[in-house]
Amino acid sequence: MNFIETRGNDGIKSSEVTFSEAILNPSASFGGLYVPKDLPNLGLDFVESHISKTYKELAYSLLKAFEIDISESDINEALDLYDAFDDAQNPCPVQKIKKDLFVQEQYHGPTRAFKDMALQPFGSILSSIAKAKNEKYLILAATSGDTGPAALNTFKNKEGIQVACMYPSGGTSDVQRLQMVCEDGDNLKVIGIEGNFDDAQAALKNLLASQSFKDELEKDGIKLSAANSVNFGRIIFQIVYHIHSYIELVKQDEIKLGEKIYLIVPSGNFGNALGGYYAKKMGIPIEKILIASNENNILTQWINTGIYDIRGKELILTKSPAMDILKSSNIERVLYDLFGDKRTKEFMTDLNEKEIFQLTPDELAVLQKEFSAVNSDDSYGKEIIQNFLDDGYLMDPHTATCLKAYEELKDQDLKAVMYSTAEWTKFSPTVLNALNKDDNSYADKEALEQISHKCGALIPAQISALFEAKIKHDTVIDKADIEEEIIKFIS
Ligand SMILES: *Cc1c(COP(=O)(O)O)cnc(C)c1O
Repeated sequence: MNFIETRGNDGIKSSEVTFSEAILNPSASFGGLYVPKDLPNLGLDFVESHISKTYKELAYSLLKAFEIDISESDINEALDLYDAFDDAQNPCPVQKIKKDLFVQEQYHGPTRAFKDMALQPFGSILSSIAKAKNEKYLILAATSGDTGPAALNTFKNKEGIQVACMYPSGGTSDVQRLQMVCEDGDNLKVIGIEGNFDDAQAALKNLLASQSFKDELEKDGIKLSAANSVNFGRIIFQIVYHIHSYIELVKQDEIKLGEKIYLIVPSGNFGNALGGYYAKKMGIPIEKILIASNENNILTQWINTGIYDIRGKELILTKSPAMDILKSSNIERVLYDLFGDKRTKEFMTDLNEKEIFQLTPDELAVLQKEFSAVNSDDSYGKEIIQNFLDDGYLMDPHTATCLKAYEELKDQDLKAVMYSTAEWTKFSPTVLNALNKDDNSYADKEALEQISHKCGALIPAQISALFEAKIKHDTVIDKADIEEEIIKFIS
């Protein structure tokens, strides 16, 4: 199947590309994104025929349904990476936590956050394509904490790929920083930037716009690609686990085949939610997708009013930092799917030029058939973490935002699956604040040990080993010196 563009075609780029072209070169005409030309229709037959299959078999069937131009052996090599998750048979287990509420834990991969679910196989596929084409790629990443470790882990020592990852020095947790600076691979460069996440992101944008930088890359025959969730190569793997949620509920005898369910997704850049939306469109019985946000409530506002307004808005730094966002990239794909390329281009032009776009009442009604949304704050999250701890379930602050959506938005008597996007070990100081009912600032190591002791929770080896690991990357520099530093690294 081919891929087309969310903002229409500019007459210069080709109007349709293959899957591998879309993932190597993810930016489409007018700054748009690539989307599948059609969505395969799966329906209940597909669900039924996968009830007794493994997660990998399900993922394989889904990739096949999209008819992507990736060889059998490259697909299998990518999917085999799920074998390294805690349970190779079931990389993202679904369990019951209330009478009608289930949680899918998406953090059982190497970096303990849900980014692994897609970045692990995606990294393998991207590098297979680069190898087959005999091309070299530089992946640039700016991270606030979870994407960086997952991208470094998946691309480490991959042929044809180099990664330069920028993080705000002092702006991540200890665990997140150690996951990056201890990652060992000749093809990896990790750079701390004096500044915050906005500075890291601005630095990345400057690099992408710099002619001298492009000239240097060209001299070495290196092309640029991106590993953020605008890349459809990540989205395709994020459809699989939503179908898995549904299958698990059928398998566990909690629903009958065909019965509808809710999905509850803690959202930032909307990649996770978009995967659920595509699953719904492809015929999986999903009543609605409930979008949970933190105090950065831009998605709540948009879904409830049809107005996406970031004029004069400043990002609020919360205890669920992976959801701190103003411009959520993947809503563009939903806009395209619901309203077409002309309208999407209008919306995105308005957003870029006026920092606001607005749906008509009719369009809003269409959007609200698919999504509902609510937001909550850190003190609510703390309470939820506490309440669940009383029942013996450890939850991270991103996951906790889902409960607000469960309480307020579920207006039918249907079962719901919420997504747990990070293990408690990645945000242990916040979890310890909830446990101790205090506001102390704990170091990660101390918080991990205290929680582990008090709750009898296991700290996985991937996390405990970080505190003994050798630091491989100690570069911390000013924004102005980044270009030079990366050029030194690639040549
Ligand atoms: C990335 C991330 C999110 C947000 O996911 P999106 O797909 O960007 O909406 C939520 N929680 C955690 C822990 C994350 O790392």
